[in-house]
Amino acid sequence: MAKSTVAIVGRPNVGKSTLFNRLVGGRRAIVEGKPNVTRDRIYGETEWLGRKFNVIDTGGIVLHDNDKIKNQIKYQAEVAMEEADIILFVVDSRTGMTGVDEDIAQLLYRTNKEVILVVNKVEDFSNQEEIGWEFYSLGFGDPYLISAEHGKNTGELLDEVISKLPEADEDEVSEEKINIAVIGKPNVGKSSLINHLLGKERVIVSDMPGTTRDAVDTLIEWKDVQFNFIDTAGLRRKSKVKEDVEYYSNLRALRSVDRADAVLMMIDAQHGITDQDKKIAGYAHDEGKAMVIAINKWDLMEKDSKTMERYTDEVYYQLKFLNYVPVTYISALTGERIDELLSLLEFVVDQSNLRIKTGILNEVITEAVQLREPPSRKGKRLKIYYASQVGIKPPTFVFFVNDPNLMHFAYQRYLENILREAFGYVGNPLKFKLKQRN
Ligand code: GDP
Ligand code: GDP
Repeated sequence: MAKSTVAIVGRPNVGKSTLFNRLVGGRRAIVEGKPNVTRDRIYGETEWLGRKFNVIDTGGIVLHDNDKIKNQIKYQAEVAMEEADIILFVVDSRTGMTGVDEDIAQLLYRTNKEVILVVNKVEDFSNQEEIGWEFYSLGFGDPYLISAEHGKNTGELLDEVISKLPEADEDEVSEEKINIAVIGKPNVGKSSLINHLLGKERVIVSDMPGTTRDAVDTLIEWKDVQFNFIDTAGLRRKSKVKEDVEYYSNLRALRSVDRADAVLMMIDAQHGITDQDKKIAGYAHDEGKAMVIAINKWDLMEKDSKTMERYTDEVYYQLKFLNYVPVTYISALTGERIDELLSLLEFVVDQSNLRIKTGILNEVITEAVQLREPPSRKGKRLKIYYASQVGIKPPTFVFFVNDPNLMHFAYQRYLENILREAFGYVGNPLKFKLKQRN
């Protein structure tokens, strides 16, 4: 079962995207350094009291063939009713109730989904009843008074959302472990990282001389997540480990990538990216693996406020095809940002399971095609009829088009960026398949 989804609806300017940013903001912050954003994010994930759910800002879904506000809103409400388990219907306390709010309410009466009425832009919470009373007539019960901008009462709103979400799905509470392949040149700090984790976190299984393949793995529990670091036991007994000397030169690294849910690529801050790193990163990319790049030994670097940014630019320059991979800066020695690293690893694995419904996917693609015309050759223009996400791990899409040969690399890249900006898929390569349909 997929994660629950909460959609935000309301007329323009009531504060939908402000609320969206507040709800998913924390998640977004950790993916800083991702490439240029050309459109608003309409889809995000968040977590409250241990429950994870998706949030859609329907205000970001825009009809192009008809910009009449009424149609626009009808359309957004329909998307919400189709995609969401819970709808946050946002109104504005400053303007009071308007005819458009009533129109939206009419639309929402048709749904059997939970609707929570949210009165935004409340500055003074001392006379809540007075502010809220006029909105009762919308017919959705007690309104929640909040200030999205200042984060007032948004916690209470989230409590309410959580209490109304469908029962926790199996996936969320499962004991499933996340398999991580730690990749990096000798001396980059792989064993230091594992040792740091072992020192700090609860080790469930360590290096049992056993028969199972997992015996050489290191299993660590961190905040209810089980991370299984593949083929790392050897790394910890440094002295004995001859095979580590040219880690990349044998098949072990590749095999651990094959088994992984996510690849942690470690780079020595002082040495930068090598050809070997590029090769193995390319392999992980081709295999469709989620990835995080950790620049280690950051404690040794002389830095100013721009060093990280410059370094990240350089990483993306060197690894052009990996511009979707988050880069973080750690010290396996001091433990700096190791928590963030684990949280990123969990996040990219989560994102590898992201599945966007066909309706909303096609809205975004239709909009993208309006914004930038598809390529043509010899007077024949590429037409995209329809797209669907057909797989996860990695996220895989089928595009039905008039002629697959008309697709250009640059245009595919553009569509990929649009999908990332709308939905995320952080840290994961996207696979596109083109199918001809006449
Ligand atoms: P949307 O069109 O519904 O997505 O609305 P936006 O999120 O873009 O917000 C519209 C305007 O309302 C922006 O200028 C926001 O800064 C402002 N705004 C949003 N939330 C609040 C709030 O809680 N208080 C106040 N005073 N302004 C807000
Ligand atoms: P491995 O070969 O990838 O497992 O690398 P090691 O973990 O054995 O680290 C190689 C050397 O780098 C050791 O001397 C570590 O103490 C040192 N080292 C590892 N991580 C860091 C770090 O974050 N900062 C500093 N200053 N030294 C580190």
